[in-house]
Amino acid sequence: MRAVVFHGPGDLRFEELPVPTPAAGEVVLRIDAALTCGTDVKTLRRGHPVMIPRVPTVFGHEFTGTVTAVGSGVARVRAGDRLGVANSAPCAECPLCVAGRPNLCEDLLFVNGAYGEYIALPSRLVARNVVRLDARTPAVRAAFAEPLACAMLGIERARVETGQTVVVFGHGPLGCLLAMVAAARKCRVIVVGKAGWRFERVRALRLAECVDATATADVVSELRAMTGGRGADVTIDATGRPEVCEQALRAVGRGGSVVFFGGCAPGTSVNVDTHRAHYEELTLIGAFHHTPALIRQAIEALETGLVTPEGLVTHSLGLADVANALALMAKGEALKVLIEP
Ligand SMILES: [Zn+2]
Ligand SMILES: [Zn+2]
Repeated sequence: MRAVVFHGPGDLRFEELPVPTPAAGEVVLRIDAALTCGTDVKTLRRGHPVMIPRVPTVFGHEFTGTVTAVGSGVARVRAGDRLGVANSAPCAECPLCVAGRPNLCEDLLFVNGAYGEYIALPSRLVARNVVRLDARTPAVRAAFAEPLACAMLGIERARVETGQTVVVFGHGPLGCLLAMVAAARKCRVIVVGKAGWRFERVRALRLAECVDATATADVVSELRAMTGGRGADVTIDATGRPEVCEQALRAVGRGGSVVFFGGCAPGTSVNVDTHRAHYEELTLIGAFHHTPALIRQAIEALETGLVTPEGLVTHSLGLADVANALALMAKGEALKVLIEP
């Protein structure tokens, strides 16, 4: 089979590999659709010891496919089933898994290999984090299960409720998915971004009210003015930039929650007004990754049409063009690229 293999930072190769055969408990999928992700760009630049502990490995982690072979002992799925798939599976045994926080599992098993014609899913993933899809669900939509589940975790952690005002800083794919999930909860959603074609695209999708951070001297004052001076109920940083995290802290209102959704570099710190944190009872929350329950919820939201993220796909390319797709992402010329083997 043809596959795009990651050999280390800056070293991506288009190769011919044997089609995998399933070991006990495993399932082999023919990939129907894969999506590029900002994490791929980061990983290609500097590696990712958590998601990719060993190289070489077939690259990519957002995908959906059709079962072509199952290993012994697999009862839940059969050849021909189309599956929504997560890119990880928790152990279900460590203290954090037992405490109901499997996204923080001490032994999270990551799965890579979306940019190939076939992938073997390890038994733990098959047991915990695959969902059979309805025949009518488009593959491109189902491939959003993983990033959508991450966005749902951010909204869940902030206990976002109907009617609240939610401000999302950042208009990358995850910022947009966060906005879509908040909108699906019937919130007032404001996305803060920077002028350019991507922001215009977000505007055109009519996901949210849009604030152009480059067109205002003080984003926080503008957001306060838009919320009757009170500030937002929930602010979410989806940029991973410390100065933006501080804007999120300043733009939240009394009793509000601030979600640190974007991944910052190690050692990053931000200023927190602890007077406000105390007297205004601010809640500061991290949100990382997803859980098997949220993968199921994400697939349900995609299948019922509660969330329809296909508008975030700006390009469609083949496997041979994955390197070009990631270059488009790196240059800010694509939101999501659909890779169809
Ligand atoms: Zn991703
Ligand atoms: Zn665990």
